[in-house]
Amino acid sequence: MEELHSEAQQAEPPAPKVIGLTGGIGSGKTTVAKFIEEFGFPVYYSDDRAKDIVNDNEELKIKIKELLGEESYDENGVYDRKFVAGKVFNNKDLLQQLNEIIHPAVRIDFENWVKQQTKYLVFKETALLFELKLNRQCYKSLLVTAEDNIRTKRVMDRDNKTYREVEAVMEKQMPEKDKIKMADCIIYNNTNLEDLKEQTEKVIFAIE
Ligand code: ATP
Repeated sequence: MEELHSEAQQAEPPAPKVIGLTGGIGSGKTTVAKFIEEFGFPVYYSDDRAKDIVNDNEELKIKIKELLGEESYDENGVYDRKFVAGKVFNNKDLLQQLNEIIHPAVRIDFENWVKQQTKYLVFKETALLFELKLNRQCYKSLLVTAEDNIRTKRVMDRDNKTYREVEAVMEKQMPEKDKIKMADCIIYNNTNLEDLKEQTEKVIFAIE
């Protein structure tokens, strides 16, 4: 009896289900992610983590400098996002090679993070969920979407960017209609923040 008891105590808890949270530029995925955290579920912010990883992981630093040049890091050894973005913005090949360096490191970081989580659901916020087919590694995908003109306006206000600048980014992303076809769950953000939060609550608590 004693033995059974201790075996039960040692049993591993089931791994959390991973929900991929995505959306195009300005769709509101970060806003939704914050609501999700308010509802008590952990969120892994892939793009933010990637920013840390390119500064912390020495092996990665070497590879990125080899690919894009020493200027990829400033004199203090800090990743120069502007320089890198300028290099890869109109060069698909280079962008792909850069992604092939960064993404495996983020995946490992994510896997370690998941192991530390105790909730039955965790969320992985990533802009390129469908583009990189990362949805295949998730239990379900959750898309935040809004009309292009609404997203453009929100990003112009948030980042102090011109219409053309936002549009240039948007044009390079997968169209919303394609993402809508692929998503398991959808939150429509042509709305106010109160309604957005209500939709978020409904969607996440309906996931079984
Ligand atoms: P990005 O991919 O560009 O990082 P995102 O998908 O994470 O964008 P957010 O940063 O969450 O989008 O939202 C874009 C901007 O729009 C933010 O300034 C946010 O506060 C605002 N916003 C999002 N949803 C709403 C809403 N329903 N009502 C008003 N403002 C909103």
